[in-house]
Amino acid sequence: MDDPFKSFCTSVGLEDSQSQAVADMNPKQRLELSCSAVQSCIGTENVGVAPLNQAVINENWSQSCVAQPYCVVQPADAKHVGQVVKIIKYFGVKFAVRSGGHSPNPGWSALALDAEGTSVIGGRIPAVGVGGLILGGEFFHFSGEFGMAADNVKNFEIVLADGNITNANTNENTDLFWALKGGGSNFGIVTRYDLYTIPVRDIWYRWDMYAVDQAPAVLDAMVKWQNEGASDLKSTVALIIGLDGVVVGLIYSAPANQPSAFAPFHELPTPVAAIVPPLNGTVKTLTDFLSNTFSDQPLRHDYRGVSTRIDGQLYQDVYKLWRQRALATREATGANQTFTIQPIPKNLAEQGIAKGGNPMGIPQEDHQWWTTVVDWANASDDDAVRSVSIDTTEVWNTLARERGLDLPFIFANDASRDQNPLASYGKENVSKLKQVSLKYDESQFFQKQQNGGFLPSKV
Ligand SMILES: Cc1cc2nc3c(=O)[nH]c(=O)nc-3n(C[C@H](O)[C@H](O)[C@H](O)COP(=O)(O)OP(=O)(O)OC[C@H]3O[C@@H](n4cnc5c(N)ncnc54)[C@H](O)[C@@H]3O)c2cc1C
Repeated sequence: MDDPFKSFCTSVGLEDSQSQAVADMNPKQRLELSCSAVQSCIGTENVGVAPLNQAVINENWSQSCVAQPYCVVQPADAKHVGQVVKIIKYFGVKFAVRSGGHSPNPGWSALALDAEGTSVIGGRIPAVGVGGLILGGEFFHFSGEFGMAADNVKNFEIVLADGNITNANTNENTDLFWALKGGGSNFGIVTRYDLYTIPVRDIWYRWDMYAVDQAPAVLDAMVKWQNEGASDLKSTVALIIGLDGVVVGLIYSAPANQPSAFAPFHELPTPVAAIVPPLNGTVKTLTDFLSNTFSDQPLRHDYRGVSTRIDGQLYQDVYKLWRQRALATREATGANQTFTIQPIPKNLAEQGIAKGGNPMGIPQEDHQWWTTVVDWANASDDDAVRSVSIDTTEVWNTLARERGLDLPFIFANDASRDQNPLASYGKENVSKLKQVSLKYDESQFFQKQQNGGFLPSKV
């Protein structure tokens, strides 16, 4: 018997608009037929339908994102992705693209180049994906020196809403290339990323744990370093304040011996533990170390971001309030929370401009991106737990506004689902993103059928 779905595997017989027969179907019929059509086109081995492989579904980092799809498609190549896009579009069903599944926003869904003496700007821990990470911009240890990961992309291979595979780079589809460098999952499904390498392999780093009552002193050291030492762009600092301790990672993008750029940290009292004593290692040894510091315990997660100018009093005031609220919430729910200051030197934005520009509108001045990661166990605590980071963001915004220290930028990769990072990119950039979206996705498939994401249509 002829396969009734074969016509879906070619562009023949697959109009952009749905036939009346499809329009008359109920949602379940559409799902069943679309999954059968995908199976027929790309092979049953690449499409899971009931009983679904639960291990694949559970791969999301945050348990609050684990959702039960009707079918799970694992395309082998860009051609498969193109066929799947056409079928999804034809049947008008909802979909979500997943890469590493590290976004904690429900419903949205490292590389080792040691031998070459180079690295790429990628996720700071290997478990994070590539797809969503780079489309959100991607901040790496050495972004202050070399720009965001998105600024270091040479070419995106992308499947557009019409199912066609195309490339975006400095010669082809240059407007799409610009939009993909931080504009998110709005223009197509990226099936290949070609990245420029950076000339960094051998690095110096140390990782220390301070007592929690040292947090104010560590914040002061951070501000001093941001104002003085950070002008040495090879130096960067990872600062994660927890409820029971403070972790400080000092990283220098070249072999060194206690770089003087970190003087404010060298002046701090002795840490309670040297997690990694000062050493000359490589980007890979640092990445291996960091991958072991993250728990893979299945929990619910959220994160949230806000940017401000650098100011010691502001950091101290917000931290104090965050700590009181976060301790009370831990008492009530067991939730764990962190308070992280990410240092953003002016050069980060300048690198983006020098490398062709991106839509993010990152402030061209030294500043900081605060973020928090929140981990908890019970769905019934979702609102109580998230309210701490929502309130903390409000405090950052209010105090910063009052003191003339506010900045509008919200980093998409650290943004929670109710934040609006695209709007923070600035009116002109948003308008350009909308134009690119309309040009490459005339029927607005990715705006209408995608299950979640920071979408220009919602700005
Ligand atoms: C432990 C941890 C560490 C992190 N470290 C960093 C870090 O160092 N730097 C940083 O910038 N961020 C970091 N993040 C944030 C992270 O970048 C975001 O959570 C990001 O969205 C996750 O990317 P992913 O590839 O896993 O995407 P997913 O969670 O799979 O997807 C995120 C979004 O992108 C879309 N998407 C995924 N792949 C594609 C594709 N190929 N084409 C089109 N759309 C796609 C999805 O549909 C979804 O909307 C970290 C997060 C965690 C939890």
